[in-house]
Amino acid sequence: MDNYISTVINKRTEPEQNNSFQHNKQNLKGIAAGAAIALGYPAPNYLINPKLLKSIKTDDALNISKQQVDNVLIAMTKKFKLDEKGFKALYFPVDSEEGKFLTKNCGGMAFFFSSKQGINQAESVVNKLYWLIHETGHAVNGNCTKLGKFYYNNIARHMPTAKFLGVPILIGLGLSHNKNKEDKGYNKFTKFFEKHIGVLATLPFIPGLIDEATASLRGLKFIKKLEPSIYKAARRNFGIGFMTYATEAALAVGGAKLAIYLKDKIASKP
Ligand SMILES: [Zn+2]
Repeated sequence: MDNYISTVINKRTEPEQNNSFQHNKQNLKGIAAGAAIALGYPAPNYLINPKLLKSIKTDDALNISKQQVDNVLIAMTKKFKLDEKGFKALYFPVDSEEGKFLTKNCGGMAFFFSSKQGINQAESVVNKLYWLIHETGHAVNGNCTKLGKFYYNNIARHMPTAKFLGVPILIGLGLSHNKNKEDKGYNKFTKFFEKHIGVLATLPFIPGLIDEATASLRGLKFIKKLEPSIYKAARRNFGIGFMTYATEAALAVGGAKLAIYLKDKIASKP
């Protein structure tokens, strides 16, 4: 009799044990596939963004003179009292040290930097001076209201870190949710990340996107006073600049969703 019972128990438990082992294996395979996607998601960015940046016109093609850029910068500085905040706009030859830095890091365009030590400066390469107008828009964002200053110093400036660290962490949490286990404790916590990965992966990009869009819009308000053709071309180019940031966000969201989808597919295979 004893023997019979133990055989019955074995018969009932063995396939389950096997199943759970199989499920864990599938889950790990899924996590590995998802993690590979999560690590690889920025890759297409290196193909798309340089092409977008290359299509941005130089001062010559835009038909804007240094004098016109200077006038806009003076008007913006005056309107927003940027000189009182120590704001400086500098430009550099393309093959200077700074020009090379801008080419390497900003697609040969421009850059705004502000520090708590009081540095508050926009830099541009000499053949794309009108981008200083966009950068001055960033200076306005970061200096001119208490809210703007707080936002710039505490949120927008940390966006690169949030993007490059935050997105993989969010995907990692989503991937670690085990569909084959009960939703309790840690597994319940990670379910939230798995379920809302699209929205969550978008979040680290939003403050930066708002900062970029408003910087351009502030500049365009002043460029609008120049010839309509300059305004049109600048609007188009600032739009392309914005697209480079939007592409990053779209790829992160797509990558995150694909990673979770793939993991789910593999993990739920019998
Ligand atoms: Zn910008």
